[in-house]
Amino acid sequence: MGARIYLDWNATAPVRPAVVEAVRLALGETGNASSVHGEGRAARNRLDQARRQVAAMVHCLPSEVVFMSGGTEANNAILSLASWRNVLVSAIEHDSVRLVRPDAIVVPVTSQGIVDLAWLANALAKVEGPTLVSVMLANNETGVIQPIGEIASLVHAARACLHSDAVQAAGRMAIDCRAIGCDYLSLSSHKIGGPQGVGALIVRGTAPFAVRQVGGGQERGRRGGTENVAGVVGFGVAAGLATEGLAMMTTVARLRDRFEAGCLSKLPAAHVWGAAANRLPNTSCIAMPGVAAETQVMALDLAGIAVSAGAACSSGRVRSSHVLAAMGAAPPNESIRVSLGEATTEAEIDRLIAVWCGLANRRRGNVTQAVAA
Ligand code: PLP
Repeated sequence: MGARIYLDWNATAPVRPAVVEAVRLALGETGNASSVHGEGRAARNRLDQARRQVAAMVHCLPSEVVFMSGGTEANNAILSLASWRNVLVSAIEHDSVRLVRPDAIVVPVTSQGIVDLAWLANALAKVEGPTLVSVMLANNETGVIQPIGEIASLVHAARACLHSDAVQAAGRMAIDCRAIGCDYLSLSSHKIGGPQGVGALIVRGTAPFAVRQVGGGQERGRRGGTENVAGVVGFGVAAGLATEGLAMMTTVARLRDRFEAGCLSKLPAAHVWGAAANRLPNTSCIAMPGVAAETQVMALDLAGIAVSAGAACSSGRVRSSHVLAAMGAAPPNESIRVSLGEATTEAEIDRLIAVWCGLANRRRGNVTQAVAA
């Protein structure tokens, strides 16, 4: 078998070599960013540099960046604020958003995976008091991009606040917090080629915020605990490179389109989720009717290709997708997610098409034999 083919960049992206080097150098330095001596000030400078790099990626102020342990913590931090009387979340949010507030109002999406704007406007007209709406910028399973500017207008007209989980959008599309008009934005380092276990919540302007983790007053009193300086340095370097790498996304989109066209021509019964919507250039969610996603993922893995069935689950098991169920999939567990990156090649995509369509043919053969028997 040749080299393995990694097509699960939405689960985690390969760490960029420049990030590895920056983290290695930072780990070699001693200094607590809260100390007043020279070593401490040097650590603070490294943090501030990373803060500027992350802020530049999403066009916010460096002072609005609160470093955290990842996208999960960022999402939890804002959804769990006790001051929200009402929380509205879209039906396709990541579990780190949708499971935080069991009392949240769930906003439905269309069959293309776009938030139902009329439904949202209607729901907002009925709520009173401090309200948070959380709608992701782009979905992790389908890549579908939300009309976030329109959503922000609706939310602000209702005097509510908007949070957007931009964990998958970062590095794959340009993000401008000011243009979007969101109050909060979540980011994760490991989806853009930085280290795992680092992320940020952007808290814009005077948007309400309450500290969940108290301690030494780090992050301007917004998150206590000695900062993971080396991890944050890696995140900053990854953010800078991800912004530069946006130019590569046209090529990535061409490969994604090649994959979908190749599969649909060989297997017309296949279905691409959100195909008519605006999508991230690197993500494809495709259904092979009659074949469980788990079977597809395992067959591809045996052939040396790593893809996933929807979101990565900590138990390592394949779950039925709440995202596809919300888009009307029945059953919602016959689709795989293929997610590409800057290093993906045409040869890798062609091999994937051959293996995936080969599996479909074998399954069809089995079904025909069973009917004939
Ligand atoms: N939000 C989305 C959309 C994600 O895809 C993920 C990770 O898969 C997360 C949040 C969680 O981020 P992290 O792994 O940094 O906790």
